[in-house]
Parts: sequence; structure tokens; C-alpha cells
Amino acid sequence: MNDASLDRMRAAVRDVADFPQPGIIFKDITPVLADGELFGLTIDALAEGLKEAGITKVMGIDARGFIFAGAVADRLGLGFIPVRKKGKLPWETVQVAYALEYGENVMEMHRDAVKPGERVWLIDDVLATGGTAAAAAGLVEQLGGVVAGMTFLIELGFLGGRAKLPVGVEVRGVLCY
Ligand code: AMP
Repeated sequence: MNDASLDRMRAAVRDVADFPQPGIIFKDITPVLADGELFGLTIDALAEGLKEAGITKVMGIDARGFIFAGAVADRLGLGFIPVRKKGKLPWETVQVAYALEYGENVMEMHRDAVKPGERVWLIDDVLATGGTAAAAAGLVEQLGGVVAGMTFLIELGFLGGRAKLPVGVEVRGVLCY
């Protein structure tokens, strides 16, 4: 990914102060999505190097993660796994409770989403405190799968989220703050 493309992405991400709670600066990625060329460049950046990662599926987190992870899976010709908020998946699930930068939640994945030994890659829009991504990795572990790595469009480095992620998992941030 060249610097000009990264600069365009960074310029398009909109900071929204005090959303969804006072004190949070929300990274709004909708301007990136609204620009077709930029959206394509963003998917290029997120998919970079993943053809060689030895993975069979890409997983995405409800809801903004779906937009990026689904497109990356399609770009790579791989399957897609949705990790959803509690109560949204129709079949049997594994569950995990987790804390995020502004609240608490339970996330779920279908029991047949990952086979034992299967290697998957997680894609999400923002790495903040790391609780969400760590919990999603826990779901894969519950099913005997392996999270080979994770790529985030935005890494809020000052929150130290990487420290919460499982050891041995490769972590990539495209835009780091
Ligand atoms: P965390 O568990 O703290 O790493 O939070 C990551 C999740 O919460 C991601 O799925 C993001 O979509 C969302 N999130 C947390 N903080 C922000 C933020 N400042 N701007 C946008 N999304 C955020």
C-alpha cells in the first residue's frame, strides 16, 4: 500500500467527538465506504499478504467489521464467518462475554463456523482496548480453531489493545493513531 493511498484513507476517517458516550472520539469510517475507489483501496490494504497466510476463512465482527471482512473474504476467494451480538444467530452457538471501550456485551458464533485445526483471520474496523478482538479469538479457540492473525483498518495505539490479544497472533493495523 503506498503512502498516498494511506493518506487518503486517513483523511477520510471522520472523528466524531462524544459518540456514543461523552469522552469517546468515534472513528467514523462511512466516508471511506462512500468513495468507491477508496473503499477498494481499503480492501486492498486489509487483504495485503493474506493470500500467503495459509488461512481458509475470514471472520468479521458485528457490525462494521462485516463490511470489511466480507469484502476481504470475497477478494481472497475465502469463506466468511460472522461473529454477532447475542441473540442474532439462528442456530447453535458458542458464546463469550467481553468489555469494550464504551460498555459490555456478549458475542456469538455458530458452532460449525470453524473446524478443529482450521486457520482463520480476523478483520475489524477499529482496535481500541482489544477486548472485542480477544473475545472473538476466544470463540475460535472454543471450537479448536486457530486465529492466525488480525488486521484492523484503525489501531488506536494509545489504548494499548495489542497487549490484550493472544500471544502468537500476528496483528496488523493499517492506520495507526
Ligand atoms: P475494543 O474492544 O475496545 O477494542 O473495541 C473495538 C470495537 O468497538 C470495534 O469493533 C469497534 O467497532 C468499536 N470501537 C471501539 N472504540 C471505537 C472508536 N473510538 N471509534 C469507532 N469504533 C470503536
